[in-house]
Amino acid sequence: MKRTPIVELLNTAPAEQTVNARGWVKTKRGNNFVNFVALNDGSVIHDIQIVADVAKFDEELLKSLSTGSCISVIGKLVASQGKGQKVEIQADSIEVYGTADPDTYPLQKKAHSMEFLRENAHLRLRTNTFGAIFRIRHALSYAVHSFFDRKGFYYLHTPVITAADAEGAGQMFQVTTLDLKKLPLTETGEIDFSQDFFGSSANLTVSGQLQGEAGALALSQVYTFGPTFRAENSNTARHLSEFWMIEPEMAFYDIQDNMDLAEEFLKACIAYVREKCADDLAFLNERYDKELLERLKFVLENQFERLTYSEAVEILAGSNHHKKGKFQYPVKWGVDLQSEHERYLVEQHFKKPVILINYPKEIKSFYMKQNADGKTVAAMDILFPGIGEIIGGSQREENYDKLMARVRELGMHEEALHWYLDLRRFGSAPHSGFGLGFERMMMFLTGMTNIRDVIYAPRAPKQIDF
Ligand code: ATP
Ligand code: MN
Repeated sequence: MKRTPIVELLNTAPAEQTVNARGWVKTKRGNNFVNFVALNDGSVIHDIQIVADVAKFDEELLKSLSTGSCISVIGKLVASQGKGQKVEIQADSIEVYGTADPDTYPLQKKAHSMEFLRENAHLRLRTNTFGAIFRIRHALSYAVHSFFDRKGFYYLHTPVITAADAEGAGQMFQVTTLDLKKLPLTETGEIDFSQDFFGSSANLTVSGQLQGEAGALALSQVYTFGPTFRAENSNTARHLSEFWMIEPEMAFYDIQDNMDLAEEFLKACIAYVREKCADDLAFLNERYDKELLERLKFVLENQFERLTYSEAVEILAGSNHHKKGKFQYPVKWGVDLQSEHERYLVEQHFKKPVILINYPKEIKSFYMKQNADGKTVAAMDILFPGIGEIIGGSQREENYDKLMARVRELGMHEEALHWYLDLRRFGSAPHSGFGLGFERMMMFLTGMTNIRDVIYAPRAPKQIDF
């Protein structure tokens, strides 16, 4: 018989029709006459109740229906007498696909700590919490593609292995097939990468943006959505070594257009997930973060505050918080804002998402458009409550001479960037783009406070399991 997902069964009018449900046992309770099994197959946060008459089934079989075991049940869909559910399945036959020994199965009936679940990342997907998180993760991915499709963007698959360092921050994972025990050296004693697999040094991408720009300067509007790697040794609750990034890139967009698109995009994603994952969000709101739904609504209904970096520094420097010495890091024009500053602006001062533009050029990447003041670049960061920076973007420098001057000033590797510089030599155009950290957005949507809890297997310093 064909399986019906539990999400469908729960929405079916019961008429004693024979159905087949398959899934993992959440809990079992009962007495000498009847057993009640809560069954979940991940299609929805709710379980379906299976009612098994003790007289009808083998004792051993009923015993094996412990938490975590996987079964297939054929039975009649009937109206439920009990409260909490509209329908249940009166079991006629039960097949056990896989038992789970209660003495060794890590997940018990009781609630587990997030730390414990992180150590069991392969099984945590079966919990209500992670079921909700991963259904939301799917919905958010879908929302991203659907938004850009509606807007006439093309999905560009940019390379994961590259010779370019998009951020110039040197936080890259190297990719090599050289024998680490016997590295070939050049005459000057450097590692001879001409003998390496690609004939040059290579690394995992830190951003698909540079290639995205080539796409935008041909297809007008593209976006990338792929894994991104950063070997920064920062063990924070907001950084992963492997994360997913969405990077739209648009020809003929200035920084204002860029901000408008980013705000519309974030709101469209929130609206979609709110509609599609109402039950999962309600669960997370109840269990983890009582203000989650309120926060989503608030961000949807309010305009993001837009101001310059200089204005933000003035606000921070003039705040009582600063005067009382409560910021750990310094506040003055020229410094990179820390997450404590970003969150102060969003959570204390404006009490809504904030877009900061025109940052000092020294703290931003080489490709950002140089403003007329000679000091700032047309960068934009979007700051969210509870998260800090969720989007980083900019208008790009489209002038060849200005870009080249910056590349030289920073002593960058011109050779590896030749194709990128070409984009300014042949048919250059004003263009802009931004990068959204997919897991940061997931944190916002789920209320999770640790980024390790919104991805299947977090990659972080000293962490490669699962
Ligand atoms: P941060 O200051 O938070 O480290 P960043 O300035 O390095 O961020 P960008 O290089 O602008 O970030 O990357 C664009 C977006 O990617 C960020 O706004 C953020 O949402 C996300 N992001 C950056 N680094 C990480 C990371 N290590 N793990 C998860 N997401 C990240
Ligand atoms: Mn960073």
